[in-house]
Amino acid sequence: MTNDQALIELEDGYTSGVYTKRPLVIVRGEGAKLWDAQGRAYIDCVGGHGVVNVGHCHPRVAAAIREQAGRLITCPESFYNDRRAELQAELVRIAPPGLERVFLCNSGAEAVEGAIKFARLATGRPGIVAAKNGFHGRTLGALSATWRPQYRQPFEPLVPGFVHVPYNDEDALEEAIGDDTAAVILEVVQGEGGVTIGDGDYLQGVQRLCQERGALFIIDEVQTGFGRTGRMFACEHHGLEPDLLCLAKAIAGGIPMGAVLLGSRVGKLPSRAHGSTFGGNPLACAAALAAIRVIEEETLPQRAAELGAYFISRLRGLDSPLVREVRGLGLMIAIELKHRAGPYLAALMERGVLALSAGPIVMRFLPPLVISVEDMDAVVERVAEVLPASL
Ligand SMILES: *Cc1c(COP(=O)(O)O)cnc(C)c1O
Repeated sequence: MTNDQALIELEDGYTSGVYTKRPLVIVRGEGAKLWDAQGRAYIDCVGGHGVVNVGHCHPRVAAAIREQAGRLITCPESFYNDRRAELQAELVRIAPPGLERVFLCNSGAEAVEGAIKFARLATGRPGIVAAKNGFHGRTLGALSATWRPQYRQPFEPLVPGFVHVPYNDEDALEEAIGDDTAAVILEVVQGEGGVTIGDGDYLQGVQRLCQERGALFIIDEVQTGFGRTGRMFACEHHGLEPDLLCLAKAIAGGIPMGAVLLGSRVGKLPSRAHGSTFGGNPLACAAALAAIRVIEEETLPQRAAELGAYFISRLRGLDSPLVREVRGLGLMIAIELKHRAGPYLAALMERGVLALSAGPIVMRFLPPLVISVEDMDAVVERVAEVLPASL
């Protein structure tokens, strides 16, 4: 105990303060399990906020990182590189149809920044339409697309030209797209905003409107990508063909990386239009190649679809009066409560299950896609223990 307390105090003494932290020191991970400094095991349904799709320390990802670290760690894009060339081709191969080129970067926010710049560049228009309750990151450009006022207000003025319309409302979107709209940016399932599932007709309608009016369609799959929702990309549920696709989180098995995939309406970008020192570094590319191979060979999207459907049906069977709704797509799952979720997440942690929130009243589960059925059952039992049978 004292050891943990000392580490918590050490970190608290120096950390910026921007994060709300749980009093738990995580020191090791394997698959869907994490261990604290005392050797206590936890079932991880936080999944690094959607990063750990292949599980913690997947042996093939760890081996790829080790091998590449001994050969070449860094190499800017002013040169060519074997791993980077392979990865860019792989990303285009697995991507929804119509995406032809790749810009590599280091995070989700950086992918969104890139997509916004590319949309303005390709259309010569300034406007960006985003959705209420959407989340796209916290750098100034990405934050301008993010909706939540608590994230935005302290940093205003943000980038001009952004408007927010209600999600899943095609009429509102139709009114918002004008002659000066460069792009519409949406998530297929809103993650941070509460696990709100996009309606297929709506998303196809948005795509059609964008095409009719000369605006680009940016889809942010930073959280939904790489098998999370039961398909490699959530776009595939609805046959969507975005002009720009933002990726990050699970792309490289836990190593920081982001990517923007570019469609034919964007084309090849002019030289010097954008850049990033660490973008496309061989270490991250090697990790991403290994992670993509694991996702395909272990058929993790299919696993997410099957286990997700099972998890949702078991959670719906819980029958606590505190539960307003259980919803999800693949292994991106929410329990919306009638009260604040925080105390129940803390109670789950005490029982060895880590889950996260999505807004004040939603418990969110983003387990590694390799989670076992036994662990999934254990999570359902712990949830049943912490949610009261009567109010
Ligand atoms: C997490 C997230 C981001 C931001 O990613 P960072 O790597 O934290 O910058 C952007 N969009 C969506 C949908 C996300 O879930």
